[in-house]
Parts: sequence; C-alpha cells; structure tokens
Amino acid sequence: MNFYVMTLFPEMIENGMNTSITGRAIAKGLLSLTTVNIRDYSVTGNGRIDDYPYGGGAGMVMQAEPVYRAYQALVENRKSSPRLVYLTPQGKVFDQAMAEELAREEDLIFLCGHYEGIDERVLEEIATDFVSIGDYVLTGGELPAMVMMDSIARMVPGVLSNQESGQFESFQGSLLEYPQYSRPEEWRGKKVPPVLLSGHHGNVDRWRRDQSILRTLRNRPELLSGAEFDKKDRKYLRALLQDEQEERLTEEEKGFLAKLLAF
Ligand code: SAM
Repeated sequence: MNFYVMTLFPEMIENGMNTSITGRAIAKGLLSLTTVNIRDYSVTGNGRIDDYPYGGGAGMVMQAEPVYRAYQALVENRKSSPRLVYLTPQGKVFDQAMAEELAREEDLIFLCGHYEGIDERVLEEIATDFVSIGDYVLTGGELPAMVMMDSIARMVPGVLSNQESGQFESFQGSLLEYPQYSRPEEWRGKKVPPVLLSGHHGNVDRWRRDQSILRTLRNRPELLSGAEFDKKDRKYLRALLQDEQEERLTEEEKGFLAKLLAF
C-alpha cells in the first residue's frame, strides 16, 4: 500500500507515520509514504500558497494552482491517477467500512487543507473522495490523514503481528468489543470476571459475546440494528430486558431493546 500526502507540513506526517506500528511497516517495506510539500509549488516563488477569499470574510484560502501543480508532480508518468481523498469536515464521515474499502487500493493520495480550506475549482478537478473524521473542525487535514492512514494500514497483510491482530475488534458485525483484562487477577480490590480464569473456552466466548452486545447497547445502540443475533443472543437480550441479569438496564435502554426484539 502506497500513501501519498499533499500537505503544508510534511514533517508532521513523517514524524507521526514513522512511529510505532506504521513506522515498523514502512521500515519493512509493507507501506510506503511519500509527502509532497504544496509550498514548493507556490506560483509566486516565495512559498506563499494562500490568498484572500473572493466575496470577503475572515481567513485565507489555499490557492488552486499550487495544489494542482503539486498533484501533477505526483501523478506525472503514471498510467492512471490514484484516488485522491480531500480531508474536509464537509465530507462523508470516516468509519471502519470505509477503511476496509480504501484498503483495497494500491495507491492513495491524501490532500490536507489549512486556513479556510482550498479553492473549490481545484477540488473539482482532482478530488475523488471527500472525507471527514468527525463533526468538529480542526486546524488542518494532517491529523485526519494520519487517522485514516493508520486505520487503513492495519488491514494491510503483515502490518499487524499475530499478537496485535485481534480476532474480534470493535465494529466487526456491528458490535463493540468486549472488555479486556490482564494481570494481576485482583487490582485494588477489583477482580477479573471469574469466567475468564475458568479455562472453559465456550463459556469465555459466550461471556465475551454477551458483553459485546451489552456494551454496544449502552454506548452505541444505533449500531445494533446492523448486527445479527442468533438464538443464544436473543435469549441473553430477553434476559436483560426482564432484569434476569446482574447488569440492569435503564428504562431508555429497555425501550430500545424492546423495539429491537420486536423485529
Ligand atoms: N472552513 C472549513 C469549513 O468550515 O468546512 C474548515 C477549514 S479547517 C479550519 C482547515 C482544514 O482542516 C480543512 O481544509 C481540512 O483539510 C481540515 N479539517 C478540519 N476539520 C476536519 C475534519 N473534521 N475532518 C477532516 N478534515 C478536517
């Protein structure tokens, strides 16, 4: 997987991506990272790449031409142009499904904006995808690009070691992951749930599945409509609804669950 990042702050991207698991993957050649400094393509020749917005208003806008030239330098001599993701709070919100879809590409270009954003005309020319990492506004597209690259990189074969790649992780099957525990068995009076020490794999799996369902119901109930439940799951859900479990649901959670079970 080859990542290309068009940015005003290449060192930010390089420092971040060359650290930890992605850094190890780059060193092994499983990922490649190329940054392009948009400032190097300034039309005034003095590194300036922004100007005032037409129509007035606060802030500056990144000009079309330096961005376009930086893009051309990246794609020249290539037979086809890779997808280009413009990071923007106005884009489609990034999620695990999008990460999985983008991980199928061999090359991806990320374009990081700054100030009030980028002249719309160049975006119309070169951007194929408009992606936001959430409903808040950041100062630049570098952190969003790194968020996306990190989660896409995890799906590239070999990037995660066997120990790092969990069999189940949040968002698989539309559920959040179950709670995790490690040594010691008792920490400040709090004990690890006994089933995890039982050595009974079937019971451990059942407990984890129940906890995933419960955690999703509590923290992200809207995800549950995309989950599939078997007979045992439904039995657990009914027991929750009827207060037959140690964990007690709020009236709101019960209302949500009752509707879910009605389908
Ligand atoms: N004026 C723009 C607007 O209201 O949509 C916001 C510009 S923001 C201050 C500067 C740059 O940060 C954007 O061009 C974009 O690249 C990046 N950015 C900010 N928030 C983001 C988010 N939630 N997701 C992705 N990129 C974001």
